[in-house]
Amino acid sequence: MNGVLLRFYVEKLKEKEVVLDFSEAAESFPALDALIQAGESRFSGPVTGRLRAFLANSFVEVEGRVVVRVVLACSRCLKEIEAPVDTRFTLTFSAGLPPIEGGEEDEVELSAEEMGLIPFDGDEIDLREAVQEQVIMELPVRPLCEEACKGLCAHCGANLNDGDCGCSAPVFNNKFAALKGFKAEK
Ligand SMILES: [Zn+2]
Ligand SMILES: [Zn+2]
Repeated sequence: MNGVLLRFYVEKLKEKEVVLDFSEAAESFPALDALIQAGESRFSGPVTGRLRAFLANSFVEVEGRVVVRVVLACSRCLKEIEAPVDTRFTLTFSAGLPPIEGGEEDEVELSAEEMGLIPFDGDEIDLREAVQEQVIMELPVRPLCEEACKGLCAHCGANLNDGDCGCSAPVFNNKFAALKGFKAEK
């Protein structure tokens, strides 16, 4: 079953839309697996979702919802936090470049990507790449265990959410005091 769930034959859409319900391990998505191997994120459950594909003129439209729980380190205190990723999207696939109506010969041709289209070849569309891309785009860049997270002490590394570690900043204050004294002498 693995791998088959996210592919469909475009030909089938001529009869009716295709709905794909899936639940797959994050490791089965190459880009997510790379994040796991690099220790950048963990996923505490399968990637689940529903994708609906249908024909719209000469394009294949895919509406999707993808849900997964990701475990990340707080960007300030490194505490592990679980964050839900729940994303909805619409993608448009195109078999080659659509003809530009009334286009001049010397007109700059836009690539399929530039037009927001995802090109595909052959009879099948594999949504594995699109799904992993949507998940990665939704991953929080600077996750926080809470908005008010105090982070770690730059001196001793203590988690400041657990209380004051006792490292005040006397060095900083002394520097200013010395500078003041120096100026006063002039
Ligand atoms: Zn934190
Ligand atoms: Zn400290």
